[in-house]
This record gives sequence, C-alpha cells and structure tokens, in this order.
Amino acid sequence: MSRPLLHRHFPPLADSLPHLRLGREPTPVRRLTALTATLPVWCKDESGYGEGGWGGNKIRKLEWILPDARRRGAHTLLTVGGIGTNWGLAAALYAREQGLATALALIDQPVDDHVRAQLARLRRSGATLHFTRTKRRTVAAAPWLFLRHSSGGRLPYFLPAGGSTPVGTLGYVEAAFELAAQVASGELPEPSHVVTAVGSGGTAAGLALGLRLAGLRSRVVGVVVNDTLRLDAPAIVALAGRTERLLRRRGADVARTGLTAADVTVVRDWLGPGYGHATPEAARALALAAATTSLELEPVYTGKALAALLAMADDRRLDPGPVLFLNTNGPR
Ligand SMILES: *Cc1c(COP(=O)(O)O)cnc(C)c1O
Repeated sequence: MSRPLLHRHFPPLADSLPHLRLGREPTPVRRLTALTATLPVWCKDESGYGEGGWGGNKIRKLEWILPDARRRGAHTLLTVGGIGTNWGLAAALYAREQGLATALALIDQPVDDHVRAQLARLRRSGATLHFTRTKRRTVAAAPWLFLRHSSGGRLPYFLPAGGSTPVGTLGYVEAAFELAAQVASGELPEPSHVVTAVGSGGTAAGLALGLRLAGLRSRVVGVVVNDTLRLDAPAIVALAGRTERLLRRRGADVARTGLTAADVTVVRDWLGPGYGHATPEAARALALAAATTSLELEPVYTGKALAALLAMADDRRLDPGPVLFLNTNGPR
C-alpha cells in the first residue's frame, strides 16, 4: 500500500507519525453536471475509502489514530458518539482488526431506520456499549469509564466525538494533499470553495490546514450539523493550529500558515432543530442528489452540507468558481 503524501513531503514524519493505509487512494473526483445549472460542482468521493469499499471520512482519521494508539501500548479505544455514530462503528471495526478493543459511550439522538440499523451494527461490532444518554452523564461517568476499560496497567486511549484530535485531523491534511495532486494533474480545476459537513470539526480543520500547506487557495466552507459541540470558525482553526504544531513537533519542516478564523467559512443555517434532526432543505438536497447523481447521501451530515452548497449556487451576491463537495458518507 502506498506511503502517505505527508511522509513524502515531510520525510521526518515517516518515523515520528506512523500511518496505516486502510483505503484505496486517491479517492475519485468527478463533475456533478446535472446537479445545478448555475454553478460548476465537483465531488471528491470519500464513500468508498476503506477496506471492502466502505467507510467514508472516519477511515482517514483512523489511519493515523490506530498506529498512534498501538505505539502508546493501548489495549482499548474509549470514545463517544450518538447511538447512530458512524465514527464509533468505524473505530470499533477497524480497531478490532488491529487487535484493539473499543468501548463506546453513546448519547441519545433522534431515532429513525438508519439509526436503528446503525445501532444494530454497533451491537455486532464487538465494542462494549455504555448508554450514557446525555453529554452531562457521559462526562460524569468518565472516571468510571477510564477505570473500567483500563487493562494491564494502561488507561484506554481516549478519543473525543468524531475522532477529531490533532492526530485524527491529519487524515484530512493528507486528503488535501491528495486533492492538490489531482488539481496539479488536471483532473479537476482548483476549487474556489470546498464544502463539507462539520460534525466534530476534524475534517474541516484538516482540509483548511492541508489546502494551505499544499498551496491551494480553496476556501473551506464548513456546514455545521452538530449543536452539542462548539464548532465555530475559531474552534475549527484552533484545531487546525494544534495539528500544525503537532506536525512541527514531530519534525516536519512546516512553514507557519498563520491561519485565522477569517480563513474558513462556517455556516450554521442548515442545522435545523439540532444534530440528527431532519430538515426540509436537506430532504430536498437528498432528493435532488438521488435524481441527478449516483451519490448515496444521508440526512444527518451530507444532506445538510449539500443543501448549503445548493444555496451557494442560488446566491447571486456570491460568485463562486468551481465548488468541490466532499462526500464524507461511507455507508456500510
Ligand atoms: C462524522 C461525519 C462527518 C463530519 O466529520 P467531522 O470530522 O466529524 O466534522 C461528515 N459526514 C459523515 C457522513 C460523517 O459520518
């Protein structure tokens, strides 16, 4: 399997930040010609990224997280998510293959068929599930969870929701370098904007940092779909900054990007009543995607992100160039 671009661009990282390839790269880019007539839209399709052709954006994070956990000698990953968490499922299944156990603290979210099916997969994943139900009760249970999942004198390797640590965020720094190579080879024009859903921020933060490091001028538009975390532009850029410092600490000769909150656009207009709640705009976007593309989207993340992109196409005050939609959904 191929070496990550980050190791090729910053050779010292090959020793200091191990990587485990879990998907086939590069993920495809293609023009979505029939989606809207007013704006050229391209898609970078992460849906098939992962072993067996499923996974989506969380696999990119695990490629850096799993080797880091192993290197620290952890036996168990401990992480949190909603009862339909894509992150928790991907973590459990891919960690198991690396000989790591997973414990999940699960918070309630609106239940539909998709969430029910996802919960059934979580139950079969081999992960230990703790139904802590609310964020407050999860925080209160944390000391007990850490002790319960310690083994051999080691605490579990803790990951916040979505795996959005600086190490996990490297996954989308890598993806941005991959995109830059696709632009350089003429597969697609340089996008003016890259639109992605923001659930825990790692994807948007990694892209913002990676696009800058790879020399693209594309602007990240993060579409917030989660109201249980602070996910404004300063928070996204702070995570990008922590990731940039991680690269430098591990020996990469990274020029200071000086990213500020003004460098990313974060929109909250498509969230609706909250995380996992349906909105009519996302439903319309899903219907349009189904009718005009072969993309398989879902209502929690990608439907809302596409709704935001479609509104950009309609906004006459904006003059966006080619816009890239990041399809983060990787259905099992
Ligand atoms: C987790 C997830 C996202 C959000 O990515 P973050 O890095 O958590 O912001 C987007 N789309 C899908 C399908 C996801 O599962």
